[in-house]
Amino acid sequence: MAPKLFRNATIISFDEDAQSIKVLRDTDVLVKNDTIAAIEKDIQSPDEAEVVDATNKILSPGFIDTHTHLWQTALRTLAPDTTLAEYFSSYSHYSPLSASFSPEDLYISTLAGILEALNGGTTTLLEHAHNNWSVDAVKRGYDAGVQSGARMWWCCAAEHRNGITDEEMLEALGQRHRSGNEGGLMELGLAWDGMGTQSEEEVERVKGLVRKHDLKALTLHHLGSPWPFDNSPSLAASPPKSLQSLNLPTIFSHAGFATPADISALRKHNWHLSITPESELHYGHGQQTSRLVQDQASLGIDTSFTFSGDLLTQARIWLQTARGTEYNRALGTGKIPDRNPMKVEEAFLLATRQGALALRREDLGVLRVGAKADIVCFSGEAPNMAGWSDPVAAVILHANVGDVRDVMVGGEWRKREGELMLKEGTWKAFREGFVEVARRVQRENERPQALGEKFMGVGEWADVEIMGTRRREG
Ligand SMILES: [Zn+2]
Repeated sequence: MAPKLFRNATIISFDEDAQSIKVLRDTDVLVKNDTIAAIEKDIQSPDEAEVVDATNKILSPGFIDTHTHLWQTALRTLAPDTTLAEYFSSYSHYSPLSASFSPEDLYISTLAGILEALNGGTTTLLEHAHNNWSVDAVKRGYDAGVQSGARMWWCCAAEHRNGITDEEMLEALGQRHRSGNEGGLMELGLAWDGMGTQSEEEVERVKGLVRKHDLKALTLHHLGSPWPFDNSPSLAASPPKSLQSLNLPTIFSHAGFATPADISALRKHNWHLSITPESELHYGHGQQTSRLVQDQASLGIDTSFTFSGDLLTQARIWLQTARGTEYNRALGTGKIPDRNPMKVEEAFLLATRQGALALRREDLGVLRVGAKADIVCFSGEAPNMAGWSDPVAAVILHANVGDVRDVMVGGEWRKREGELMLKEGTWKAFREGFVEVARRVQRENERPQALGEKFMGVGEWADVEIMGTRRREG
């Protein structure tokens, strides 16, 4: 692979000593193989290097998304007004809809989702892979990850399902991983929903599988009050004590009702949250407390089939939601807020370095010598960005996916001058096949399932006030 040299860029770098962002101006970045080899002014170009003029452009670390379910991408726009309860019955992996996806459909749908992420500057994803209704489905999801060229933690939701055991699922996936991890960007992990309700004996058995397959991360959904099927109402009480001996990166998705004990458990064990701001607002998971533990948090998207799939949007929604929540709390005292509660730099770090820390990979999510060359170049020239002086504010508050000009993962281009670079073929050719799958699975699943008397037989329904633009009688 030829070295690549970004010339004369504005770089959002990270100062390890100060533990904060450091902006470098008119500076060059040299990439050799999959790593950042130098960040300096006026680097002498190696003879064979590909030189990119980055004058007036912004270089950012690639974004890190710590919670996705990408097999559902072909459902895009099918459920714009759904709730979480409706999601479970009509669109989740447990709904009848999964039967519409052949292993090949699933491969195409998953790959389309990862390409959306890459197009928007996300270079690393943790997939909570609940495409687990057949061994072929498990394998083809993984294949899409390899084919995408993104850096991925592929966390298989291995469980006993459709007559297949978790051991069989992990065995098939492990084989695939040993022979098919072309490019070496995939890591295997376990998505372990329900862990907290399992016996210590069962937990020990699963831990044996984690060790056998050398799994590199654990992830699980956690909702908390009032959701009835959770691991436990308390996140701190949820993971069995013996889990600590695995000492793996562990990411709880959502967890918006954390108690003070939960927050101290996250810090004590170095476990992380994945906040998925748009998902939690859209579906109504509830998100009351994650702003209080952002030192152990990162950002995720969740189900991009029904809202935006880029981390820029998530960072912006989260920043302004957290600000608004604190402002409203202060205003509720009848007095005037005396400061802004959250800086734009914090939102940037949540979308980049914090994701890397959740995965315990200090060589990701930052632009510094020795870090992996996962780089996004923002053009900065469109009407929404021109005139910027602060690159962090420009990216978090003004940029959109259209401003993402180049994306590099491990030193390889995945987007160049605005065009996606697929490992095989072109986006245009791929898109035709994807649209065909999307049209068919959506046609087959137009009618949502009816909700029961109670949520999953136990949860009481709450009244929700309907808002709209049409004046109501009386
Ligand atoms: Zn999820």
